[in-house]
Amino acid sequence: MKVYINGKFYSEKNSKISVFDHGLLYGDGVFEGIRAYHGRVFKLKEHIDRLFYSAKAILLNIPMSKQQLMDATVETCRKNNLNDGYVRLVVTRGAGTLGLNPNRCSNPQVIIIADTIQLYPASLYKKGMEIVTVATTRNHHNAVNPAIKSLNYLNNILAKIEANTAGYEEAIMLNSEGYVAECTGDNLFIIKDNQMFTPSLSSGALHGITRQTSIDLVGELGVPTSEPNLTRYDLYNADECFLTGTGAEIVPVVKIDERKIGNGKPGKITKKLVKAYQELTKVSGEPINKIK
Ligand code: PMP
Repeated sequence: MKVYINGKFYSEKNSKISVFDHGLLYGDGVFEGIRAYHGRVFKLKEHIDRLFYSAKAILLNIPMSKQQLMDATVETCRKNNLNDGYVRLVVTRGAGTLGLNPNRCSNPQVIIIADTIQLYPASLYKKGMEIVTVATTRNHHNAVNPAIKSLNYLNNILAKIEANTAGYEEAIMLNSEGYVAECTGDNLFIIKDNQMFTPSLSSGALHGITRQTSIDLVGELGVPTSEPNLTRYDLYNADECFLTGTGAEIVPVVKIDERKIGNGKPGKITKKLVKAYQELTKVSGEPINKIK
């Protein structure tokens, strides 16, 4: 594997950054997870845009233009012969002192790793997932704003630990007002009476790229989406539920807090969305092997 660090490629063994990097010391940095399908990088522009928004929010200056970063991402896939896989793009604050002060960090590190990913077994997509609500609250937007895809995921990790120790794969996180926000690494949707609902960004959801794609694709099926405050009651009484994320794609949910959702099987609209999403990944994206 060849890893991109600041414009150069290194073998996996030689891919190193400083132990004084504030990305390591404080989770001070931002990242993106991107997919490649069929020789194309899916939704690359959207991911790069979000990375720059995250960076702006933490006053981190990415030392490259968006176009340069897109080219570097595609180049990293090419160098690794990656046609289908997962790309992790990381920008850290860079090496500084042991103190918090970000102004002492001189060189943001731009890292691109192109690898494979398998989050969940295929059977789970067929049967649907069972998930639970956990006590760890989604970050308040006056703390680390949930819209920032920062390197500090400890809050989500705590929620994931709660789910895992209870025997579940994923956790639903509520915001500090008690409304549904999202899962630890995925956005959440419900369908009720042929309408789709998902938590708003201000309720603590990440502006998920797959979230937006799902809203668009389900819209094309004639199902409108709105973003009201949702409570657990709304989830329990939904006809269908699913999660969306770049890594997980579209995951049907069939049980929440031991309440069966709909008939306890992946829903009709969910299944149509899964198909439409798979079709889209076949034809859309930045070609990896285009001749320059
Ligand atoms: N919420 C959180 C907290 C995430 O980390 C992610 C990304 N894994 C998502 C939602 C889904 O976003 P996207 O569809 O852009 O991957």
